[in-house]
Amino acid sequence: MREITHDVLILGTGLAGLRAAVEISIRTQGKANIGIVSKVQVMRAHSVCAEGGTGAVMRPEEGDSFELHAWDTVKGSDFLADQDTVDRFVHMAPDEIRLLEHWGVPWSRREDGRIMQRPFGGHSFPRACMAADKTGFFEMQALYDTLLKYQNFTRYDECFATALLLDGDRFAGLTLYDLPTGEFLVLRGKALLIASGGLGNLYGFTTYSQTVTGDGQAMAYRAGLALEDPEFLQFHPTGIVPSGILMTEGCRGEGGYLRNNKGERFMEKYAPKMMELAPRDIVSRSEMTEILEGRGFPGPDGLDYIHLDLTHLGAERINKRLPLIREVCIKFLGIDPIEAMIPIRPVAHYSMGGIETDIDGRTKIENIWAAGEVACYSLHGANRLGCNSTAECLVWGHITGSEIAKYVRAGAPLSKVPRESFQEEERRIFEGLLKQAGTENPAQIRCALRALMDKHAGVYRNGDSMQEGLGKIARLKQRFENITIQDKSRIYNTNLVQALETQNMLDLAEALLFAGLAREESRGGHARTDFPKRDDEKFLAHSMVSHTGSMPELRYKPVAITNWKPVERKY
Ligand SMILES: Cc1cc2nc3c(=O)[nH]c(=O)nc-3n(C[C@H](O)[C@H](O)[C@H](O)COP(=O)(O)OP(=O)(O)OC[C@H]3O[C@@H](n4cnc5c(N)ncnc54)[C@H](O)[C@@H]3O)c2cc1C
Repeated sequence: MREITHDVLILGTGLAGLRAAVEISIRTQGKANIGIVSKVQVMRAHSVCAEGGTGAVMRPEEGDSFELHAWDTVKGSDFLADQDTVDRFVHMAPDEIRLLEHWGVPWSRREDGRIMQRPFGGHSFPRACMAADKTGFFEMQALYDTLLKYQNFTRYDECFATALLLDGDRFAGLTLYDLPTGEFLVLRGKALLIASGGLGNLYGFTTYSQTVTGDGQAMAYRAGLALEDPEFLQFHPTGIVPSGILMTEGCRGEGGYLRNNKGERFMEKYAPKMMELAPRDIVSRSEMTEILEGRGFPGPDGLDYIHLDLTHLGAERINKRLPLIREVCIKFLGIDPIEAMIPIRPVAHYSMGGIETDIDGRTKIENIWAAGEVACYSLHGANRLGCNSTAECLVWGHITGSEIAKYVRAGAPLSKVPRESFQEEERRIFEGLLKQAGTENPAQIRCALRALMDKHAGVYRNGDSMQEGLGKIARLKQRFENITIQDKSRIYNTNLVQALETQNMLDLAEALLFAGLAREESRGGHARTDFPKRDDEKFLAHSMVSHTGSMPELRYKPVAITNWKPVERKY
């Protein structure tokens, strides 16, 4: 068993992971020795795809306020967000924008030189700071450049983490499959930050790249940490048909319209005040209603769609503010949005739930923290507002980074990695999965899983359908026991990686449907046709799902309501 030891391990090099690495470096004057792990190359973390902007209160003198940002977030969350978490978030976000400015992000500017902010869904003030429509790319670049000033980190690129090893109730090590060498090794650390991103690939029609498979959630879940609110999966209103590539909400922030097959701006029926800039759960449901009632356009493979119309914005605005959107439409659809409307429909986008943490991002295991999309400190509740996620990654990268630095500086111990746990994990993968000769193809199981999630856990759900979905998952799990991985080699075995990911996805899909079935109400991203109303009496609570080895276990945790009592949401 080869062990490499660091003070701190960071699993994931997206915005959350890099921001935390920078904070730890600053707070320890570059003395903490950090290992940063990514299953792809550092700058290929999915955060580079973030397009539209990062939300923060930057112009109080023009009418914005912390209270307004907090209220928008809480109302947008359908009152499931923890309000103390929201309050902390809105107060910290503006400094993150200013820090990134100093670290090199070329924010788009107004005529007067101030950082430009555009409107985003559910926000009652233009709050999205942006670098055209390539915000995540520039933020990642600035953070990585800043980290390079410190010589205290080691990169583990293209290393796939498979399990968290515990020594009693403490984290001891992370097992890694190093793809280019084929080696299986363990990284030890006094503290671990899980910043491994979302799980969009649970669905077939998604904005996320193939690598976003919820590995961190699944590893934590199997290590005994609960998943909080997994049933709240966000459908973004504008994924292009048929690929699912995102048309940023910035398109509607810049003034884009949504039109049905009659050419009507149908949002006036559903959200007469905010129209296309209502929160995503409401816009996605409205689009699906239009499509289901026959006012959409027929699309391939059942992907019926409606139109995103930017034609009235004009070439100059589109070229300046939405250049990537134009490029994507031309390359992937053969459509120039300056002249033609874009076919779009709701698309699986963001996981509001994740690994349960406290307000500092610390999990129930003393030396494990989580930040970014993988975590759930209950900022987004049942529905996230656009541009609050990249801001969240920065804020909780900062918070967890500073907490971990404090912990390590205070003399945190290093736990011993239990040799048997390592060997067991090695056997599971290289003796079991890799060598077994079954009759099932893991790629087909993955496809079937993604299709069933599209069908049984979509924008609209109901009890019978979710129950059917759970039955299908149970059968896929059985079939998975009998797989063959065709490539038997150790070096860069992507078949093996995909099988490991699929195993993770099966567990997470089950947790999502399990919590969804039990939540007999409609709230935010969880819209049930058999329980169409929100039920605060029974379900103003966070779902907590724990792994048992057989069916998951479910309990509920109260929501922190420090300021606003739930009211009806109208936009
Ligand atoms: C197309 C698109 C556009 C978006 N635009 C916006 C926007 O404009 N504004 C906004 O606020 N939000 C936006 N979002 C959401 C936001 O970008 C993400 O929620 C956020 O970037 C997630 O960052 P993260 O640091 O949590 O994870 P990621 O950036 O996904 O990074 C995850 C890291 O974990 C690593 N990893 C995962 N599993 C393993 C494993 N098993 N072993 C080793 N490493 C692993 C990955 O390699 C990667 O380095 C957008 C999302 C999409 C899909």
